[in-house]
Amino acid sequence: MANCANCSAPLPDGSIRCNYCGSRNDIDLKGVHYYTTHELESERTCPRCGIGLRTIDLKVNGTFLIERCDECLGLFFDPNELEAVLEATVTNVFAIDRSRLDSINSTKSGDYGISYIKCPVCRNLMNRVNFGTKSGVIVDRCREHGVWLDGGELRHLCEWMKAGGKLLQQERFVQQKQIEEREQEREKRRIAAQPPPGGVYGDDSGFDLFGGPLRHSDPDLFDIVTSAIRFFMK
Ligand SMILES: [Zn+2]
Ligand SMILES: [Zn+2]
Ligand SMILES: [Zn+2]
Repeated sequence: MANCANCSAPLPDGSIRCNYCGSRNDIDLKGVHYYTTHELESERTCPRCGIGLRTIDLKVNGTFLIERCDECLGLFFDPNELEAVLEATVTNVFAIDRSRLDSINSTKSGDYGISYIKCPVCRNLMNRVNFGTKSGVIVDRCREHGVWLDGGELRHLCEWMKAGGKLLQQERFVQQKQIEEREQEREKRRIAAQPPPGGVYGDDSGFDLFGGPLRHSDPDLFDIVTSAIRFFMK
């Protein structure tokens, strides 16, 4: 839980704007990463403010460049970079705090309403997708270029990770897999239980093809005798 740098009031989850004094808080990278601004000016523009994004180095496992807007503090990650940052930042989580996850999932307010924004790279409208199970964060994603997080959302996702959100996601994944396997097994048994096509002959109903009772006594001797008779009849 983050607090406002100006008045110390608790900040709403997933938001950088204080409800009490209205000041904007730079919480996403504070205490989360050491980062340096990169000399390189990015060609990419902020989908919220329309100004150029600044390339910064998060120094996660060496050089790790992402883009950031100085104005709204939104962040742009290339594909899979966000996951990598979360993995590197939040470690040693072994338990799922279900009540915390429930509150994280329900309290996300955000500073923007439901709106579609353009990819900073290709300018096509991005998709709004739920990030993870019960994170409460809807991220804007361009399938080709990456993910946009509004200010405060990275912090929110870190809280989600710490509460075991990733573990919950994996747990759901395993459960889903088990359900699918059980359904496949049931389907296999259903197919196996069906009679083979044209399976009328050769069943063991106790009658021969002409409806008479089958002869069970000494079939071997019977065979030998008939073979012998055939032999001498030649
Ligand atoms: Zn405040
Ligand atoms: Zn911006
Ligand atoms: Zn794009």
